[in-house]
Amino acid sequence: MFDSLADRLQSVFKKIRGHGRLDEKSVQEGLREVRLALLEADVNFKVVKDFVDRVRDRAMGQDVLGSLTPGQQVVKIVHDEMVELLGGEHLGLQLQGKTPAIIMLVGLQGSGKTTTAAKLALHLRRMKRSPYLVPADVYRPAAIDQLHTLAGQLGVPAFASTPEMKPVDICMQAREEAVRKGLDVLLVDTAGRLHIDELLMEELVAIKAAAGPQEILFVADAMTGQDAVNVAVKFDELLDLTGIVLTKMEGDARGGAALSIKSVTGKPIKFVGMGEKVSDLEVFHPDRVASRILG
Ligand code: GDP
Repeated sequence: MFDSLADRLQSVFKKIRGHGRLDEKSVQEGLREVRLALLEADVNFKVVKDFVDRVRDRAMGQDVLGSLTPGQQVVKIVHDEMVELLGGEHLGLQLQGKTPAIIMLVGLQGSGKTTTAAKLALHLRRMKRSPYLVPADVYRPAAIDQLHTLAGQLGVPAFASTPEMKPVDICMQAREEAVRKGLDVLLVDTAGRLHIDELLMEELVAIKAAAGPQEILFVADAMTGQDAVNVAVKFDELLDLTGIVLTKMEGDARGGAALSIKSVTGKPIKFVGMGEKVSDLEVFHPDRVASRILG
């Protein structure tokens, strides 16, 4: 992931590190290249501007330029600011409160919600939780079957939703069933559309009001870049998301969505999808990802 961005930035850093002494002009030149690399990676324009301004403000002081290792210090400042851009401190799932805890997965059709629900079930089981998969996409019967198939493969229980049921009723009944079965986390796979759709949004708001989920995770295809960010903003306005899952990251050479979405929405990336298999889910650690990009 991020291969082309990483290559670009690492070659800029090589130049900066190579300078025994750094003057303002060479820092400005380096930052100009960082700016171009981020723009080419499809990072949001304003996010790039703010990022470069912050690095410049911190890098231009005498304590950096006059130091013994100015190049390394500038690289460290870029690293620190990139960790912030990616979300700062890692934040895991917040499942405190009522049992069963409820995680709602929302997003456009094809973004990877159903696959992510199964991946999260595996992740939760590894955390010694007892997940319950809840298919609430009644418009696409294939989606219910798809989740049941994945549940069968994992040996995780799934609620027996039918296309005739209302999504809010599915959630309420699944919650009762979870209590009976002693399951402690519901993973609710909601319906998606190709575009933002008012009726669908109303339905998601109704599910949120009835179920009171601890987590509402927006699932987006990283390859769609700034479109993913724009859609996240719309979902966040209506649902007040708690986090983001970016899927298909293993094929994303640029990283525009990952580097913009926290700054633009204020919501952290909690997981990334790295392939189609149920085991291809990684917890998102901003510091590790920044190191991977910057070398
Ligand atoms: P939904 O409509 O949002 O439920 O999306 P699906 O879960 O059905 O996923 C749509 C397609 O994306 C499927 O073919 C998945 O296998 C694929 N997919 C989901 N996550 C990933 C990922 O992290 N990497 C890759 N390469 N494919 C993914």
